[in-house]
Amino acid sequence: MNIIRDVSTPNQTVGRSGTPIDTIILHSTYGSYWGSVAWLKNPTAQASAHYIISRDGEIRKLVSEANTAWHAGNLAMNRRSIGIETTDDRLKDITAKAKESLIWLVADIKKRYTIKDIKFHRDVINTQCPYLDIRKEWFISADPLQECLRQHGELVGQVEDLKKQLQEASANFARQLSEQASIAQTMLNNYRDRVRDAITRLQEIK
Ligand SMILES: [Zn+2]
Repeated sequence: MNIIRDVSTPNQTVGRSGTPIDTIILHSTYGSYWGSVAWLKNPTAQASAHYIISRDGEIRKLVSEANTAWHAGNLAMNRRSIGIETTDDRLKDITAKAKESLIWLVADIKKRYTIKDIKFHRDVINTQCPYLDIRKEWFISADPLQECLRQHGELVGQVEDLKKQLQEASANFARQLSEQASIAQTMLNNYRDRVRDAITRLQEIK
């Protein structure tokens, strides 16, 4: 999936003071996509997130993962987490495209860090965020399923490789067999010629 890089917001701190990333925090914007993008770049907001997802499923990176975004309302939590905003347009229901992008993004982040916890913003401080109807089980179930699909893909690849090897071996064997047959035929021809010569010579001696 494509991520638009747009990391110009002043609302971020360079680095994470050496804190490893182990948490993802989920938010929703309580507003429109472009309004929220503009707000999260506005110094007055004193707020940002690493990613924002539009209702069309567009993923925009506002802060590099190496830096601390200002999203959780808690410095220690900001340092250890990646913050994702999903556009709600003040509606409870998430769109299918936004859901797909969010699940993909969380899975992608989990590939790069040992994520121990996925939190809602409201698990960290007293807020309604995310207002959007996001379910944590989407991410719990996404993991074993993806692992299963990955293993399935690997197995299919291995079977294809074996098939190719078998076809090559069988073609080699057929080639060798035909080479051996032609050598045997040549030897047989030579032998027949020699027998004929021998017979001719025997007849001459007589
Ligand atoms: Zn929030």
